[in-house]
Amino acid sequence: MAGIDPELAQACDRHEARNLEELKRLIAIPSISADPEHRDDVRRCCEHVVARMNEIGLSARVLETGGNPLAYGEWMHAPGKATLLVYGHYDVQPVDPIELWHSPPFEGTVRDGKIFGRGSVDDKGQVLMHLAAIAAHLAVRGRLPINLKVVVEGEEEIGSPNFDAAVERYRDAFAADVAAISDTAMYAQDVPSLTTSLRGLVHWEIRVDGPAQDTHSGYFGGIVRNPIEALATIVAALKDDDGRVPVPGFYDGVPELDESQAAELAALAFDETVEAEALGVPQLWGERGRHPLERMWFRPTLECNGIWGGYSGPGSKTIVPSFATAKISARLVGEQDPVRVRDLVARYVERLAPAGVRVSITDDGAVRPIVVPRDHPAVAAAARAMEAGFGRAPVFIGTGGSIGPVATFDRLLGLPQVLIGVGLPDDAIHAPNEKFSLRQFFDGIKTIAYFYDELAGLRPGGGSG
Ligand SMILES: [Zn+2]
Repeated sequence: MAGIDPELAQACDRHEARNLEELKRLIAIPSISADPEHRDDVRRCCEHVVARMNEIGLSARVLETGGNPLAYGEWMHAPGKATLLVYGHYDVQPVDPIELWHSPPFEGTVRDGKIFGRGSVDDKGQVLMHLAAIAAHLAVRGRLPINLKVVVEGEEEIGSPNFDAAVERYRDAFAADVAAISDTAMYAQDVPSLTTSLRGLVHWEIRVDGPAQDTHSGYFGGIVRNPIEALATIVAALKDDDGRVPVPGFYDGVPELDESQAAELAALAFDETVEAEALGVPQLWGERGRHPLERMWFRPTLECNGIWGGYSGPGSKTIVPSFATAKISARLVGEQDPVRVRDLVARYVERLAPAGVRVSITDDGAVRPIVVPRDHPAVAAAARAMEAGFGRAPVFIGTGGSIGPVATFDRLLGLPQVLIGVGLPDDAIHAPNEKFSLRQFFDGIKTIAYFYDELAGLRPGGGSG
């Protein structure tokens, strides 16, 4: 392992003002991908990133896609070394409601050790951490310890509609041994963290059909089964009083936390009362006997997302409705197979069908959970770099949600991925007054610079050398 190179750290320190200027310059380009009025700004932002990449010594170019272009830069002069693919995005969210901003969203404004501006942390600042770290390496040593590719997307905030196709089209540009994504936050200030698991997802629609049309409840009530009642019974049967999903086989492939993982979770600050208050619920609820963080990150769930049927207009309408529909979805973890879960739940729902109605269930998409083994050499390298950069060993956390490019890299490239983000939970991403703490930004640059050094031992193909 390389440890901290003091010259590298000094180079990062020396360039703080320059790096802050660079961030302000990038924030000043209103690259809102959701707004067609800003299409030119989006392209200008991409070109700016490419120009900056070339300036610091990457070989960079614009990669056209069916939509907003990608900024791509590479440095491939470390033969025999592994290749790291860095992902970030240069597009930003809209700024409404503009009147709630304390300073103009497209002027990086420094107050109280933070830089405010749209995209400051999501994700322009975190993209620049990599470019600044690369610049520091090249300034100090004239070379990088690994081969490196940087891809900066322009459509992340609108769901990456052209990203999968771009990965297929530019397969060579995306070829790598490991990917690093810097577009996430740490668990809390002073609690550096690495995200190593993302839950998978399956969804279904259940439809219960009764009489061919809405029928008069006075005439026919009592001789036909009500589809809404039948559907409610089915949905209610998908979770028991302990918060568990009673579908046989549902929990196959769900790993139990080992003792040290459980201790790690227990050590994280998490106040159930505060959390319940923030969510506006009288108390938290979930699978009995498990820590809320375990339930959010490392346990599967099944939820009803919507249910409708019958009459919901003003006044009353006395009918036995013709049909009722519900949307349900499950979040999956570990080795749960989404295709198998999809079928298990569908068969279970069909078996729950009561007499007198017809029940059908359709599914829509299946995303498998992603687990990056924490003993993977790239994760271990990131952990050492974070400890060096932030003075504390990171905790390993999960996220209940999915991250588009992470799923793409997993599905199309099969790459191990390191989610190394340094935002903070109160950064107000997607909201007015988005900010990036300068301490996080500057420590993040060093962390990334160390991370590249720590990866030098990684063998092409992903093992440790
Ligand atoms: Zn983002």
